[in-house]
Amino acid sequence: MSPGGGFGQQITESCITFVDLNAAISNLELRSPPFKKTASNPSINLGTSSTNDVHELLECPVCMNLMYPPIYQCPNGHTLCSSCKTRVHNCCPTCRQELGNIRCLALEKVVESLELPCRYQIVGCHEIFPYYSMHKHEKNCKHRPFNCPYAGAECSVTGDIPFLVMHLKDDHKVDMHDGCTFNHRYVKSNPQDIENATWMLTVFNCFGRQFCLHFEAFQLGMAPVYMAFLRFMGDEDEAKQFSYSVEVGGNGRKLIWQGIPRSIRDNHRKVRDSQDGLIIQRSLALFFSGSNKEELKLKVAGRIWKEI
Ligand SMILES: [Zn+2]
Ligand SMILES: [Zn+2]
Ligand SMILES: [Zn+2]
Ligand SMILES: [Zn+2]
Repeated sequence: MSPGGGFGQQITESCITFVDLNAAISNLELRSPPFKKTASNPSINLGTSSTNDVHELLECPVCMNLMYPPIYQCPNGHTLCSSCKTRVHNCCPTCRQELGNIRCLALEKVVESLELPCRYQIVGCHEIFPYYSMHKHEKNCKHRPFNCPYAGAECSVTGDIPFLVMHLKDDHKVDMHDGCTFNHRYVKSNPQDIENATWMLTVFNCFGRQFCLHFEAFQLGMAPVYMAFLRFMGDEDEAKQFSYSVEVGGNGRKLIWQGIPRSIRDNHRKVRDSQDGLIIQRSLALFFSGSNKEELKLKVAGRIWKEI
C-alpha cells in the first residue's frame, strides 16, 4: 500500500496545544505500580515451611533486591549485597558496626543450589530458573511490566498494557482516539522557545491494540526541529507486524515518513535520539504553518496498517 494513500478519509481532526511538561508532571497523581517486587515466592525448591524465610534471607536489607555472590556480612552476621556494600562506607546498615570484607559463604552456597520461579509468575510466566540465570531472564521476560510511555524515565509507573492505557487516560489526561487514520493539528504560539515544548502524546486504538503518537520539539545538534513518531504498546515482535505513515505539509509542499512503530520497551528518548521518525526543521515547519511566523500551526496526518 502506498504510504500517502487514505489520508482523504480522515476521521478526526483535533486541535492540540503544547503543554508544559514539568507542570503536567507535577500535576499528576501517580499510582504505585501493580508489579511490586514479589515479597515471598511460594514455590522455592526448598521444602515447605521455610520458603518465605529463605527468600527473606536472600533479600538485601538495603536495596531489597535478591543477593548474588559475592554476598557480604558484618561481624554480627548481617548480610548485604555487593553493590550496596560499596555504598555504605564500610558501616553495617543494620547495626552500624564496621563492615570489613567478610563473605557469607554459607549463603552463597545456598544460592548456588536454588531454583526459583520467575518473579512475573503471577502475571503468567511459568519459567523456573537456577538462581544465577534468573536475573538475566527477568530483565528480558516478556511478562515483565512495561514502563509508562508518557515521559519515558520521568514517569515511574509500570504495569501491563490495559493498566497503562487507563493510567494514560486518568493520570496524564492523554487524548484517546479510535481508528487507524489520524489528522491532528499542533498549535504553538511562540515557536521560538523550543525548550519548554517538550512533547505531546496521543493514543490510537486500532486493530484492538494501542499506538502512541509522539510529537515533540527538540534541538538536533544546533538545529531546532520537530519530530513525529509512533510507538506500539506491546513488545517488539508484535510491533513489527504494523507499519505507519505520517505526513506534514502546507503551502503546496509535503513531507512523508513511512516506518514501523517502535515498541514502548524502547523509551521515548531512545527513539527520538535514533531519529526513527519524521523530522521537520523549524524553519520548514513555520513555512508549512503559513505566513504568520509567530505561530506554529502544523497539520500532522497519518495512517496505521497491519502487514500481512
Ligand atoms: Zn543491596
Ligand atoms: Zn551488622
Ligand atoms: Zn519470566
Ligand atoms: Zn505515567
